[in-house]
Amino acid sequence: MKANKQTADFLHIGEKLLTWYKIHGRDLPFRKTNDPYKIWICEIIFQQTRIEQGLNHYKNFIQRFPDVQTLANADTDEVLLFWKGLGYYSRALNLHFASRQIINDFNGKFPEKYEEILQLKGVGKYTAAAISSICFLEKIPAVDGNFYRVLSRVFADDFDVSHSKAFSYFSELALMMMPEKNPGHFNEAMMDLGSDLCKPKNPKCEICPLNSDCLAFQSGKVQDFPVKSKKVRTTDLELEYYFVEYGKSFLIRQRNDDFIWKKLYEFPTEIPENFEKFITGQKTVSHRLTHKNLTIHIYKLKMKSKEAFEKFSNEHDFTISNAEESHQKSFPKPLENYLSLLT
Ligand code: SF4
Repeated sequence: MKANKQTADFLHIGEKLLTWYKIHGRDLPFRKTNDPYKIWICEIIFQQTRIEQGLNHYKNFIQRFPDVQTLANADTDEVLLFWKGLGYYSRALNLHFASRQIINDFNGKFPEKYEEILQLKGVGKYTAAAISSICFLEKIPAVDGNFYRVLSRVFADDFDVSHSKAFSYFSELALMMMPEKNPGHFNEAMMDLGSDLCKPKNPKCEICPLNSDCLAFQSGKVQDFPVKSKKVRTTDLELEYYFVEYGKSFLIRQRNDDFIWKKLYEFPTEIPENFEKFITGQKTVSHRLTHKNLTIHIYKLKMKSKEAFEKFSNEHDFTISNAEESHQKSFPKPLENYLSLLT
């Protein structure tokens, strides 16, 4: 069954949502500003990080990089350092790149139109819609998983959310509910309702402002929505690292490929055969990335000769580091955990 566009009072439902938001919307620091730079940073941070977990990172990031100019002038390593703990470092690299796009392509002024914001690296339709509706009052729904879930339940709509047309389908539906005034508040309200009440499991329908309109709730079929047919495929991957140390020093280098963890630091991934005799320990850890399950084996090697240690470092372009210096660099989470155990 598709949403009944003839009979549903879309605007009335949208107004109810806004009334609820005025009283129950989350009181968050970035909700007190219309500065597109700050809204952009927070949208990128909270894409893959829970609000409670990312709030301090957001504050520290804004304190160090208060505007687009400061971010564009910063060194990549420093931007990554301020991203430490948030994971998905490509977001930080994209922010940094896009800050330079704003300086070069938009004369240093944050773009004000949805289509222009969409040109910034790392900014997708959802983020562009959030920024343009909150800061520039463009009436564009910021459709994400929360929208899919709330809309498909309210209208008991079985449109497959994994379908390639789901985004435009639910955008159209949301647009009909969106009031002319406060499009940004409408987007934020959907976000809050989706994460606080209309949760994937155990939604709090009894206190939901939309329960009298919600067809899934009224028919006792909340758990049947949203409908999702395709499962996202994940791949398993094994990685090997060698923690090569001499005294208190060890070897690292910066990744440059686009595969995973671009610009983060790592340990050597290969060693000469005659080094194997120096292996003194091994640890295996699991780590999940989006669509990838990693199994990482980290071998510890204690080098006995300073010459061999330095020769290996020079020949393979490694950097000799130590615990103190490595704190100033960003490593993938499993390697960072390994280092903190050692140091
Ligand atoms: Fe979601 Fe329940 Fe509210 Fe319907 S009544 S929108 S299912 S929380």
